[in-house]
Amino acid sequence: MRLIFLGPPGAGKGTQADILSKSFAIAHISTGDLLREAVKSGSQLGIKAKGYMNKGELVPDELVIDLVKERLKNPNTKKGFILDGFPRTKNQAQKLDEALGSADTIEQVIYFSTTKSVILERLTGRRLCKNCQAIYHMKNKPPKRPGLCDICGGQLYQRDDDKECTILKRIDVYNAQTKELIDYYSKKSLLREVSGDLEANKLFDILTALFGQYNPA
Ligand code: AMP
Repeated sequence: MRLIFLGPPGAGKGTQADILSKSFAIAHISTGDLLREAVKSGSQLGIKAKGYMNKGELVPDELVIDLVKERLKNPNTKKGFILDGFPRTKNQAQKLDEALGSADTIEQVIYFSTTKSVILERLTGRRLCKNCQAIYHMKNKPPKRPGLCDICGGQLYQRDDDKECTILKRIDVYNAQTKELIDYYSKKSLLREVSGDLEANKLFDILTALFGQYNPA
């Protein structure tokens, strides 16, 4: 199963990709996570990417494309994968198609259509564990002990780009750059739309039903 989750930041793509990849035993490839790891490790890529990320801008295509191509070589993608946050531009989509070739094409693209007020509410309240990356929300999913992860006791933090002005910029960037992807995948008849405004449990049920009907040829 080779899937793409498309949608603005805060649409719930990461949460759903995380649960579904586990339930289908396929890889979850989040370019945001890969880039944050690169920043944390202080690699050349991380140093180049950091400035763009903090401003809410897209990291240049060539850096992200190489990162994804490298990740797709990992044997744990053989059974399938969910690409979360990639592609974000038409150029990335075309390069992905070239990299996959005709035998391993993308099978479904899920578009998480989401309203601005929901995105803002989710992202300004989002907190992550520094240690295990578990995701919390100050209102909807608060940790049992303030500031600490329920799973590993790690410290919770707010992503630099989850501040309101950066979120608004990220939504603008998304709307400007990613819209053409919707056309790109619609023309290939791969696009399915779900509401990213729904609660995680409801959306999970809808997606499971969608993929439950999935029958590879
Ligand atoms: P995300 O966690 O998907 O919201 O991504 C966080 C940030 O990483 C984005 O605001 C971009 O700066 C960068 N990023 C993630 N994925 C991509 C991509 N496919 N192309 C360019 N930049 C990306």
